[in-house]
Amino acid sequence: MSKTIQAIRGMNDCLPEQSRLWQWMEQQIRDVVASYGYEEIRTPIVESTDLFKRSIGEVTDIVEKEMYTFEDRNGDSLTLRPEGTASCVRAGNEHGLLYNQQQRLWYMGPMFRHERPQKGRYRQFHQFGVENFGIAGPDIDAEVILLSARLWKKFGIADNVRLELNSLGSNEARAAYREKLVEYLSQYKDKLDEDSLRRLETNPLRILDSKNPEVQAIVVDAPKLSENLDAESAEHFQQLCERLDALGIQYQVNERLVRGLDYYNRTVFEWVTKDLGAQGTVCAGGRYDGLVAQLGGKETTAVGFAMGLERLALLLEQQQGLAIPDPVDVYMAATGDTAEIMAVKLAESLRDELPGVRIQNHCGGGNFKKQMKRADKSGAAIALLIGESEVEQGTITLKFLRAEAEQQSVAIADLASAVKTALDKTRL
Ligand code: ATP
Ligand code: MG
Repeated sequence: MSKTIQAIRGMNDCLPEQSRLWQWMEQQIRDVVASYGYEEIRTPIVESTDLFKRSIGEVTDIVEKEMYTFEDRNGDSLTLRPEGTASCVRAGNEHGLLYNQQQRLWYMGPMFRHERPQKGRYRQFHQFGVENFGIAGPDIDAEVILLSARLWKKFGIADNVRLELNSLGSNEARAAYREKLVEYLSQYKDKLDEDSLRRLETNPLRILDSKNPEVQAIVVDAPKLSENLDAESAEHFQQLCERLDALGIQYQVNERLVRGLDYYNRTVFEWVTKDLGAQGTVCAGGRYDGLVAQLGGKETTAVGFAMGLERLALLLEQQQGLAIPDPVDVYMAATGDTAEIMAVKLAESLRDELPGVRIQNHCGGGNFKKQMKRADKSGAAIALLIGESEVEQGTITLKFLRAEAEQQSVAIADLASAVKTALDKTRL
């Protein structure tokens, strides 16, 4: 026997039962972004490798060790996108969407990073994200946070997530702070771990969020970002905090929150949870005012976030009583050739008359007993039965599969309204 082929490690199938949750989750997201007037942008999954190197930064985890990079047949270096922001900026610049304009965009789709697969961490994973361009003030920073908070409420997980907030300051202030930090940390070279020593040369701010307790002990007394902010960024941050207070959004300022990507400045934030073990960040974002120009566009301010959908799905799976609909509402059962054709025709006219109602026709024959087993398994709320006597009398038998209610004999002309009434009754 030949060996079966399996999916790539860290790249998961989404089977029908999970798709149900995912479709529902994605629909809630679409509804929320629409309710803020955001528009969708779809970009290719593959981009030039340079796009990610130039935006995310050469010395970040993603670019150093996580990208799926390969040579195209013509020798170009291509990369499966590890995140969505760079592509949005690239597309915005390429199509003239950004200069002198405001854009409120969102995207959703697969991302790829070669990481060690574990719960909440995969090699193909999915992000939903928003990106706003051309709005400089803290009003839009607050809006994206508010939008994410609305999602938690909608999903019933507002109590499971916590908002952490920080400001990195302007790029200049950050560069000056970086020098101070390196000077301070250099005194402790003998105590820093290998990772931190490497970062001391390449990306010293990342040492602030080291998980190593010994490094943390050194970081405690390091110069503080908040004391080294430029005046404008400090003002921006204060105004953002005041807005969040006024909107009733709770947060904690985390001085050590710096984010792993190079392009952030000023506001950075993360929504974190205790419910997912080590993979605790569900949503992360911030301001990236320099990126548009860095990728060849004109200076344009920008702010956004990305949410990990697998992590969100894991949180939702822990929730009780989600209103995820079963895939079928009505199961049509029929015995005999005439009845079967009649059932298919009736199902077609029900689909015309009752848009949104999901109807499954039994296929494969068999007696009613067997067909009703299938009906039960389908999750349908009601079954419509057509046998010989129904054909003769021109009626349909309507059975309730979930609710305690008498079966009914319905005239064909009244079928659509009877189905609607029956479904409304079972949905209460
Ligand atoms: P982490 O610290 O967990 O590695 P990150 O800082 O690399 O996260 P971002 O690049 O900010 O993550 O991506 C935003 C969100 O996307 C994360 O908060 C997380 O929810 C999700 N995410 C990132 N990498 C993965 C992955 N490999 N598998 C699943 N979800 C991921
Ligand atoms: Mg990561």
